[in-house]
Amino acid sequence: MDSINRLRLLSEQMELEPAEEHRENAARPACFTPKQRNAVFVHPAQLPNGQNIKLLKTLLTSACERDCYYCPFRAGRDFRRATFKPEEFVNVFMELNRRGIAEGTFLSSGIAGGGIRTQDKLLDTADILRHKLGFRGYVHLKIMPGAEKAQVERAMQLADRVSVNLEAPNTNRLQKLAPHKQFMDELLQPLRWVDEIRNNQPPYKGWNGRWPSTTTQFVVGGADESDLELLTTTAWLNKNVRLKRAYFSPFDPIRDTPLENKPATDPMREHRLYQASFLLRDYGFNLEDMPFSNDGFLPLHSDPKLAWAQSNLRERPIEVNRADRSILIRIPGIGLKGAEAILRARRIGRLNDLSSLQKMGVVIQRASPFILINGKRAAQQLSLF
Ligand code: SF4
Repeated sequence: MDSINRLRLLSEQMELEPAEEHRENAARPACFTPKQRNAVFVHPAQLPNGQNIKLLKTLLTSACERDCYYCPFRAGRDFRRATFKPEEFVNVFMELNRRGIAEGTFLSSGIAGGGIRTQDKLLDTADILRHKLGFRGYVHLKIMPGAEKAQVERAMQLADRVSVNLEAPNTNRLQKLAPHKQFMDELLQPLRWVDEIRNNQPPYKGWNGRWPSTTTQFVVGGADESDLELLTTTAWLNKNVRLKRAYFSPFDPIRDTPLENKPATDPMREHRLYQASFLLRDYGFNLEDMPFSNDGFLPLHSDPKLAWAQSNLRERPIEVNRADRSILIRIPGIGLKGAEAILRARRIGRLNDLSSLQKMGVVIQRASPFILINGKRAAQQLSLF
């Protein structure tokens, strides 16, 4: 199989792995032959600093010796697998980079020969890119279950982002998805090491002088876990290991796996989990503020910020001329930027009507039931507006 066909197989198989912010559907390079054009999946992605790049997401190998119940790559499953040696992958990637097709890469792998050996292959690949070929673009490296602390540190010296997929929110739930993975020792421990290294050592002075950010991924609905369990773990990670972001991938059954008959998770659940996780991370909300049902699930029909406001602000609307930032950002329709704009405007004068709020980016249809402007209910202005 030639390199492009291997890359097609391996990058197609990475479709299941969310990373960075995808802006649109996968792009196919225009400078390949028609057959090759369907071959490589380079995703337009937005990096944490806001920069847009073309990101090649791929595996080094889709062979795997583990048998996670939900995974298409699990050992023994019959499908076409492919493998790159580090030098082979680097050659293909640099060719795509020279042609302007791929500007960065997200590298993961199935486990072959143990987590330590597999991690070494990922590290070798990144090392060649950085130190032999002087590649200075974006690299996201996956940390393999069972990797050693020194390998985690080396990955941090080579990558802009490192990630560990927890898959489930705790040990018991992980047993239902991947009985041979160890939640504490193999998955959580590397995330702790990342934070420990960032806390205790000055940034590596190698290629960019910054420690990378960290992310994780959960398979939502695969282990019958509740939203409360997922968000409890996410909040803990935000606080204790400074996780940049949790990705929530709705479970989707794969043919010829032990979970093939389990129903797919409603994508709206993924959406609500993202909304709630951003409220926890950026908006000062606590788990107690989330509108969980008795069995720990968020309502699918209403976003959690709106649900909180309906319970807490409808009878006690907020005066936008007086509220501080921490209150403003709890009002539906007012985001982080909108709150900053309101505070800036208040330094100059009073806010008198909905149109001035709208000019600051406030979604007034959402905000108006919960705010007062100069002591008057904004909802009453809405019809005039
Ligand atoms: S270790 Fe990773 S690649 Fe292998 S079966 Fe489990 S989830 Fe899939």
